[in-house]
Amino acid sequence: MKYYSLNNQSPEVNFKEATIKGQAPDKGLYFPKSLPRLDKSWMDSIEGKSNEQIAFDVIQPYVGEDIPEADLLRIVKETIDFPIPLVKVTDDIYALELFHGPTLAFKDVGARFMSRCLGYFAKKEREKVTVLVATSGDTGGAVANGFYNVDGIEVVILYPSGKVSSVQEKQLTTLGKNISAIEVKGTFDDCQQMVKQAFADTELTKKKFLTSANSINVARWLPQQFYYFFAYRQWQQKDRPPVICVPSGNFGNICAGMLAHLSGLPVKHFIAACNANNAVPRFLDNGKYEVRPAVATLSNAMDVGNPSNFVRVLELFDNNFISLKKILSGYTITDEETKATLQQVKKQIGYLPDPHGAVGYLALQRYLSEHAGDKGIFLETAHPVKFYDVVEPVINEAVAIPEAIQQILPLKKQSIEMAAEYGLLKEYLSPS
Ligand SMILES: *Cc1c(COP(=O)(O)O)cnc(C)c1O
Repeated sequence: MKYYSLNNQSPEVNFKEATIKGQAPDKGLYFPKSLPRLDKSWMDSIEGKSNEQIAFDVIQPYVGEDIPEADLLRIVKETIDFPIPLVKVTDDIYALELFHGPTLAFKDVGARFMSRCLGYFAKKEREKVTVLVATSGDTGGAVANGFYNVDGIEVVILYPSGKVSSVQEKQLTTLGKNISAIEVKGTFDDCQQMVKQAFADTELTKKKFLTSANSINVARWLPQQFYYFFAYRQWQQKDRPPVICVPSGNFGNICAGMLAHLSGLPVKHFIAACNANNAVPRFLDNGKYEVRPAVATLSNAMDVGNPSNFVRVLELFDNNFISLKKILSGYTITDEETKATLQQVKKQIGYLPDPHGAVGYLALQRYLSEHAGDKGIFLETAHPVKFYDVVEPVINEAVAIPEAIQQILPLKKQSIEMAAEYGLLKEYLSPS
């Protein structure tokens, strides 16, 4: 598979180079040159396939010859060695639980796949690679966990001070070894901006081999397609494809879902569920794409004012607003509605979503109330305990803390405080 830059000013690359570079030299995002098709007989027999087989068949065309089949199969197996169940919540609404991985959020899949691919390439090249990543909360932990103790790789994570949950902060600041956390006095967008500037700084990139672990990296973005196939495998009414609702921030996850759909996966409709950071729902309403600074909400992993991956969504539909609107709807859910949904779903149905899942649940419920006869799936993107500081006061009940989290809570955070200025990051990465 060849990848081109969405800014069209850089040469095409293969999977390996796209993974190592993260972003094209012209600062564009890499995009696959062709869409692999999974034919009808493959789709019809999906229930008889294992998750590993599905994941391998989906990702192999994107990797091509850059990783031999046996190694790719091992990487895929290690990436998804935990369950991803589809759970019935009401007669019409199902939750695809993506939080059964090591850091309890869906980003584990992309981070584990990417870290293993990069580890594979770094070992062959014998080069030291620095993974530089901005996180709005969950990426940091997933990336730290995925790369922890991987030879030849150093990880630097930027996170917005005071804007991630306490569990998230512990997950990214307590590992040590090859993982460093920078606590930025600013927003996620500031962190993302600093990271982007570092990649664009040729003086720095000459001295240090930098790569990104944000969802702009194809090795993190593409494996997210797996969820949608696993959901469909468990979907009982194959003749009535599901509406799929994705709590969205940077739009990597939903974009992967739409890619899967264009490769042949039956999906009735997609819903982008957003909090107050709703550039995309507004765009779908009025056709104007207008970026605003991020505002803090209860679903902090979606506090993104300028979603990086939306250009990929547009590219998938040849920038055609009409065809995009046919398959995608957007909803904006307020913090008050998020809280009310957490309470209601817990009390009336006995299912406890996390704040991101609650945004997804309510957006899906709204869509279904306007489309009688449809049924849908919302992606439950994190375990509620990751946000116990938000969830517990709302439901007035303690959330049981899993063993893995209990162990890290007493650990001391180790972070480097930094103002939101690129010069400081540069000095840190490459002291003058
Ligand atoms: C990252 C994240 C999201 C948003 O996913 P995008 O791919 O950035 O749109 C939603 N929920 C949770 C829990 C997350 O960690």
